[in-house]
Amino acid sequence: MKIIFATGNQNKVRECHEILDGLGLSVISQKEAGLNPDVVEDGTTFEENALIKARSVAALDDTAIVIADDSGLEIDALNKEPGIYSARYMGEDTSYEIKNKNLLERLKGVEKEKRTARFVCAIAVVMPGGEEFTCTGTIEGYIGDRPMGENGFGYDPIFYVDPQGVSTASLTPEEKNAISHRGKAMRAMREELAKRLEEKA
Ligand code: IMP
Repeated sequence: MKIIFATGNQNKVRECHEILDGLGLSVISQKEAGLNPDVVEDGTTFEENALIKARSVAALDDTAIVIADDSGLEIDALNKEPGIYSARYMGEDTSYEIKNKNLLERLKGVEKEKRTARFVCAIAVVMPGGEEFTCTGTIEGYIGDRPMGENGFGYDPIFYVDPQGVSTASLTPEEKNAISHRGKAMRAMREELAKRLEEKA
């Protein structure tokens, strides 16, 4: 059976393919499937936005399993900002060097105990026939006092995890994947999907 990942990000498609290895599924992007839906991400939660994306592709192909994800960073001291607006924070085209600098500035003087934050990843799945489910993964950490590390992307340089006391940009991709929000959500999704495919067999 075919899985369409409703994303333009080829890295996510590859990661998803690796995680679903052994289930007899081939994962392709929506572009590879020739689908280009109009999507307005106007949900109020990560789950809602992931579902909106998955449904928009499922509406164009009801024979495939469709997967979509939505993720972001929640900083407790900033009322869970940037949250679902993580990509759009300060403008989609603003560099993360500037976004991260701005967040550090806003947290100036806030002690470590109050700098708690988490990355959240929601994955939505729409099965052929319309059944839907979502899986969520989180990683708890805190915003450090300066950017650190060269790996990863986005807010990784300012998001620190204990016990190492380093940013997720300091971890190798394998180390990050083992503990990350996306890794956890992807593995939960694999389990749910395997269960459903077994029931259908
Ligand atoms: P997306 O929904 O996966 O495209 O993620 C939305 C935004 O959340 C990204 O553009 C980043 O700003 C942020 N984000 C999500 N996951 C991560 C991560 O693992 N590291 C750093 N930033 C992330």
